[in-house]
Amino acid sequence: MRKALLGNTGMEVSVIGLGGIRIQRVSQDEATRIILEAKNKGINFIDTAQAYTISEQYIGNALKEAGRENFYIATKSMSYDYESMRAAIERSLNTMQLNYIDLFQVHNVSRQEQMDSTFSENGALKALVEAKEKGLIKHIGITGHIREILMQAIEHEEFETVQFPFNPVESQGTELFKKALKKGMGTIAMKPMAGGAFTKQKLSLKYIMNSGLINVAIPGMDSVEQVIENASVGENTEPLTEKEHEELNREIEILGNDFCRRCGYCKPCPEGIDIPSVFLFEGYVTRYNLPEYGKSKYEALPVKATSCVRCRKCEKKCPYNLPIVDKLKHAVETFGNI
Ligand code: SF4
Ligand code: SF4
Repeated sequence: MRKALLGNTGMEVSVIGLGGIRIQRVSQDEATRIILEAKNKGINFIDTAQAYTISEQYIGNALKEAGRENFYIATKSMSYDYESMRAAIERSLNTMQLNYIDLFQVHNVSRQEQMDSTFSENGALKALVEAKEKGLIKHIGITGHIREILMQAIEHEEFETVQFPFNPVESQGTELFKKALKKGMGTIAMKPMAGGAFTKQKLSLKYIMNSGLINVAIPGMDSVEQVIENASVGENTEPLTEKEHEELNREIEILGNDFCRRCGYCKPCPEGIDIPSVFLFEGYVTRYNLPEYGKSKYEALPVKATSCVRCRKCEKKCPYNLPIVDKLKHAVETFGNI
């Protein structure tokens, strides 16, 4: 497994890290197997979050078997003020049963008021700096989906890493990552598979590895097979071949730009519509030519897209500014035409 320095943090991380979001779907035993396999394959960076339900707990338990000393542990919290961030750090330490956390990130800073709060006199940053001075956390980072916000945030010297989406169909972070690298920050690619929309997993990771912008990509993994497959890309030092470039371009064309990354930030819909699933199932019809399969999945949803009352609460929360109401209408038409 290739390694890279995570900016100026001094951490030498595997170029493929383990994203902890999907691990919440499996059992503790399976999570432990996944982390043991990650260790076998040379993966030494795990990124999780308090928002990923039981993920921190699974990881903490698994580390007892896999050895805490074999990993750099990164987590994050959507706390933007001093008190809640102080409590969040304590909670993560307790949940994962750790004496220290290698990287603690402010999670999903997506609005100006969240950023202002983070940097205010009684903001989250103050709690992070204090925790670092006490040795409870080793490094401080920031994550988000809105480039303009993070561009401002990385001007603050306290941040040592930045985490942002990056994959063959989401290059909006290019300038951000370039700037971060220039400042000596570590760069972490989240959503390396465009939130599951990009299906050529190894190709996407190879593209990211060869971009020259990313220290570590963190695909979410919920099986041992995925660990083996993803890790194999980290062992490969070859650039993309001509054939792979063509395949990549074909995929990019199929996907287009106006797609849902399944981040779930639009949830909950007050009417109970599972918005990302509607778009995912529509994608089976429109992108992958699986109309019956897509429709059967959609039919199984308890609340259909027709229940939308156009309150637009979801649109205000979508970090990609997707016109969700219009897209739901489109999905209704797609399924109605099968
Ligand atoms: S606009 Fe429709 S989908 Fe969005 S939150 Fe309101 S009811 Fe739900
Ligand atoms: S509609 Fe927007 S907020 Fe909702 S899951 Fe898709 S990308 Fe995320």
